[in-house]
Order: sequence, then structure tokens, then C-alpha cells
Amino acid sequence: MIECIFIGDELLDGRILNRNQQSIAGFLAVQGYLVKQATSITDHPDQIETVIKDAMKRSRIIITTGGLGPTEDDRTTKTIADTLNLSLFKDDDSIQKIKDYFNKTNRPFYESNEKQGLFPNGAIVIPNNNGTAPGFALNYKDTWLFVLPGPPSEMLPMLNGPVLDLLNKHCSAYQKQLKTSLFKCYGAAESELSDRLNTLYPLPKGVNITFQVRHPEIHIRLHAESEITQ
Ligand code: ATP
Ligand code: MG
Repeated sequence: MIECIFIGDELLDGRILNRNQQSIAGFLAVQGYLVKQATSITDHPDQIETVIKDAMKRSRIIITTGGLGPTEDDRTTKTIADTLNLSLFKDDDSIQKIKDYFNKTNRPFYESNEKQGLFPNGAIVIPNNNGTAPGFALNYKDTWLFVLPGPPSEMLPMLNGPVLDLLNKHCSAYQKQLKTSLFKCYGAAESELSDRLNTLYPLPKGVNITFQVRHPEIHIRLHAESEITQ
């Protein structure tokens, strides 16, 4: 299974809308990687630990966003390392890049930014060219974990770049082919359409139907997922 975990107090108290869920799931679906579960959680380490542990049991690809900043409330990297019993290593290249980024933008580098150059042992660092927080990929047992920063302008180029490259290199077995047919209906109520389509059921295995009211139309979609045969 492929799942996402969105980390940040601000997602749960109404301060921000979880746009990363829509953009990550939408981007990956086009590439054939279908996200089947998504969870939003606070920055609390106990919660991060519980959710990561559960996700590692059921999912072979996990993508997280958020909590990679320099401040005390950004706890994702350390908590993931603790959860998986990995120690942290310091990546001097990342720290230099953060220093360069601050230089370029005429801002001072503070000690707390050093934290953003720490990664769990075994991690592949994913550079952030649009902000300070690098992400990382970690192949732990049979799961690939991708840990990305929260701001969409930083996260998206990392997803549509190094993350996609790693997915295609190591995880193409989880790619699916998705076919969708859309029927736009007008002039009949949802319940009437539902009744008129009764003879379709049961649908062939692997085919799903969804009804969506898009006033004044009703959209009926048939979806089918299948393995990609090489
Ligand atoms: P940074 O070092 O840039 O702060 P970070 O990984 O620490 O990176 P967060 O502190 O978790 O990122 O989030 C920073 C901001 O990014 C949030 O205040 C919010 O504006 C945005 N953000 C975080 N998560 C999401 C999300 N799921 N959807 C949309 N925006 C998000
Ligand atoms: Mg932050």
C-alpha cells in the first residue's frame, strides 16, 4: 500500500488547509502510484511514533510532510530515527547548502539550523533548492519512507524530481494502471440514475463506480486499476 502522513499542529486546528494531500495524491496518481490512506497528525512525538509504526506494518511506500524546520516544535526526523532505532548522522553538505541559502538571501545562519543537517543513518538526503529544510529517503526493511518539508513550494519540486526518480528506480512494482471513464449526465436525479444503472451490478472485479453531483450535471465515473504488465 502507498500512504501519506501529514505532520503539523497547524493542520489540525484549522490554521491551514492540507493542500499537500491533494497535490501529492494527484501527482502520484498520474504516475501510477495510488495513495490509499492519508493521516494528518500533530507534531507530538508519541503520535508520530505510533502512526509511523503502524504505517510501516501495512505500507511499502510512505510519504510524510512537515516538521523538518529548525525549531523545537519540528520533531519529525528525530522521532522517526528513534522509532526505527537509528542514530542520526550530520551531513556537512546539507549544512553548507543551508548556510549558502542564508547568505544568498542575506540572512544570518543560526545554530538551530544545524539540526536540519541531521538525518537517520542510511538516509539518502533530498536537497531542498527552495528553502532550508532538506528531506530524506530511507529504505527500511521492505519499506521506502520519504520525508519531505511542509511548505508546498519546497515539497513539490522535491516530489517531482528526486522522489519520483527513486520511486521509479526502486518501487515500480507498486505502480498501477488506472483507467477512468467519465459520463456527464444532465436532466435526471441521482436516485433515478442509480435505479437506471441497476442492471450493471455486480460490477466486474476491479471496477468501481462513483457518483458526484456537479450541479447542474451528475458525473458518473467508472474506475479500474490493474497491474502494469511489462
Ligand atoms: P520549514 O523549515 O520550511 O518550516 P517544515 O518541514 O518545518 O519546513 P512545517 O513547519 O511543518 O514545515 O510547515 C511550515 C509551513 O508549511 C506551514 O506553516 C504551512 O504553511 C505549510 N504546510 C505544512 N504542511 C502543509 C500541508 N500539509 N499542506 C499545505 N501546507 C502545509
Ligand atoms: Mg517548521
